[in-house]
Amino acid sequence: MKDVGFIGWRGMVGSVLINRMMKKRDFDNINAIFFTTSQYGKSIPFTDLKNKNMKLQDAYNFEILSQLDIIITCQGSNYTNKIYYKLRKIGWKGYWIDAASILRTLKNTIIVLDPVNFKLIEQKLNMGIKTFVGGNCTVSLMLMTLAGLFYNNLIEWIFVSTYQAASGAGAKFMQELVFQMKYIYKSISHLINDSSTNILDIEKKISNKMNSTNFPKNNFKVPLINSLIPWIDKKMDNGQTKEEWKGQFETNKILNANKIIPVDGICVRIATLRSHSQSFTIKLKKNLSINNIENIINSHNKWVKIISNDFNSTINYLTPSFVSGKLDLPIGRIKKLNIDKNCFSMFSVGDQLLWGAAEPLRRMLKLLI
Ligand code: NAP
Repeated sequence: MKDVGFIGWRGMVGSVLINRMMKKRDFDNINAIFFTTSQYGKSIPFTDLKNKNMKLQDAYNFEILSQLDIIITCQGSNYTNKIYYKLRKIGWKGYWIDAASILRTLKNTIIVLDPVNFKLIEQKLNMGIKTFVGGNCTVSLMLMTLAGLFYNNLIEWIFVSTYQAASGAGAKFMQELVFQMKYIYKSISHLINDSSTNILDIEKKISNKMNSTNFPKNNFKVPLINSLIPWIDKKMDNGQTKEEWKGQFETNKILNANKIIPVDGICVRIATLRSHSQSFTIKLKKNLSINNIENIINSHNKWVKIISNDFNSTINYLTPSFVSGKLDLPIGRIKKLNIDKNCFSMFSVGDQLLWGAAEPLRRMLKLLI
């Protein structure tokens, strides 16, 4: 059995990964060793894994790390930056699987999304590549959903507007959104059941609270609740944010495209807790019928689900709350645009902790095993 080290299993991506692995009984086929950056020596909390190594190991112990066959980390880029290069430098030849973004741009790494790029993964494995990284959440969700169109070489360009959940930024941010909800609720709870209260008075009270100095916003810097933030990650030289920059770079790296497919957009953080949504404007290379487009999208993989372009289907099945916790990838609002006969709109939702993060890593580990 391969010795597999898990780092970052306590975080959001990590805990979703562990749950999926338990559900699929993946731990039956590996010797799992759990590491921590903060709780060294404590017992592992998974009662179902009683026969496995019980104590948490130190995630900075190179001696133990260097004995592992495979390391899978969901700890984040800072950890990877501190450990990965040093481990390789001291001669570690194992496989490294990572949820963080920092290694995605390196030449000798592969961004994994096997339903889309299995052949590339297989080819690079045979060439001796040993570092595999999960893609950016919105990129992976977009590719899984639109893979049929990419695969048939139908896409000329894509413009995407994202609606990204607080959890996409990490546990601390998600927690802060809940604190913001609580803070607002406490200030108006005595008013909301009183039908004589003018709703604009409540709105004013909420706005005042949002601007108060004690409002919980250490992480987001501004209120997210009752608002949105049209900026994710740092600024690039061309005016994009890093999150927007990843759209084109990662899409083309995952597809191993020989001619760049232009992808651009605006990435927006919204006040949902889990699951991302994306609105696409897509220019196709051909003027296809809606029916044809739906068939092409539908036939690529079993997770993508076409949602009919009507009110009831859309409000029930094309929302982040509907898709949370599911592997399904609903896509709807598919229609031709007035702008150009080859331009179409589409809207998709997907759980960014599943296909957007943990699931491609789990499947990569399974491929190695
Ligand atoms: P996270 O939830 O913030 O967890 C990262 C680490 O923070 C944990 O492993 C844990 O390490 C520590 N931690 C501190 N306080 C915690 C708490 N209250 N609950 C849980 N963990 C806590 O980060 P993440 O969102 O899973 O992201 C991990 C990596 O995946 C990042 O590089 C991120 O960019 C990438 N990623 C995230 C998403 C997403 O949707 N969130 C999607 C794709 C990729 P110790 O146990 O060692 O203290």
